[in-house]
Amino acid sequence: MYSVTEICKSGEPLSLKTDGHLRVVFIGTGSAFAKRRRQSNILIIQGDHHVLVDCGTQGPLALADLGLDVLQVKCYLPTHSHADHIGGFEEIGLTNRYLAKSSKPEMIVLPEYAKDLWSRSLAGGMEYCESKQGRPLQLADFFKIQTPSPENGTETGLVWNYRQGPIEISVMRTRHFPDTAVNIEESQWCSGVFINQRVWISGDTMFDRDYPLKYSEKAELMFHDCQLFQGGVHASYHELMTLPESIRAKMFLYHYGDNWDQPKSWAKETDGFSGNPVKDGFLGWTEQQKAYDFF
Ligand SMILES: [Zn+2]
Repeated sequence: MYSVTEICKSGEPLSLKTDGHLRVVFIGTGSAFAKRRRQSNILIIQGDHHVLVDCGTQGPLALADLGLDVLQVKCYLPTHSHADHIGGFEEIGLTNRYLAKSSKPEMIVLPEYAKDLWSRSLAGGMEYCESKQGRPLQLADFFKIQTPSPENGTETGLVWNYRQGPIEISVMRTRHFPDTAVNIEESQWCSGVFINQRVWISGDTMFDRDYPLKYSEKAELMFHDCQLFQGGVHASYHELMTLPESIRAKMFLYHYGDNWDQPKSWAKETDGFSGNPVKDGFLGWTEQQKAYDFF
C-alpha cells in the first residue's frame, strides 16, 4: 500500500529519516533539458538511511528546493553519465572534500562504470585539485565506493544487489544510448533500480517491453521514463501505451519534457490516446517534491 504525501508544506526541510517505512521522493521529474521541472533524480529514504539516485546539473538546486544541501546527502547511486544524472557530482565531491572537510559520502557503483564515470566525466574538474598531492586524485579520494554484488542465479548477469540499511537496491542494466544500440552489450553503461522488491524505477532507457513485464510481477508501483516524441533514447509515451492495461495501471511516468501538460503539442488524434496519462490507463505523471510512502 502506498500514499502520495505533501512534503515541506510550511517550508520545513525534508527529513532524511522516516519512522521505518520506505519513502521515495523525486526531487525532479523532468527531462534532461526541462526548465519547468527539475531533472529526474530520486531520493530513497527508509529509517535512518537514504540514497540519492543521480544528482544532475540541477540536482543541488533540486535538493535546495527541499531545504537540503548536498553535504547532508551521504549516499549516492549514479545510473549513467548524462549530465542530468551526474552533473552535480563535481559539486558533491569538491564541497565535501574542501569546504566541509567532512567524511567522504558513499557512492554505490559497479567498478566497470566507476572507471568511465571518473575518466570520461568527472576527472577533468577534480583530479588536479591539489598541486602538491604527488598524484592525480581518484574517484575513491572523494567518495567511499560501495560495490553491489551480482544477483545469484541471474543468467544474463545484468542485475546486481546492494543493501543500505533496510533499503534493498537491485541495479539492472538498461539500454539507453546510443539510439542505435539493439541490446545492452551495444549500450553505454546505464541502469535502473528496483527498491525493496516493491518499487521499480526504469532509469533512462529505450523501450524494452521485457523489463516492465518482468518487474510488474513483483512491483507494487512502477515509474517509467517517458519521452513525448518517438525515436531517440527514451521510451516514448506511444510505446508505453502498448503495455497491457494491468501494467499501465501500476505505472507513473517521469522524465517528461516541458510540454507534458499540453498534449495537443505532442499527441495526434490518430495516435489513439489522449495524452492525459490517467485517461490513458496510467497512474499519472510522477509529481516532483512529493513523497511516495510505502507501508
Ligand atoms: Zn540519459
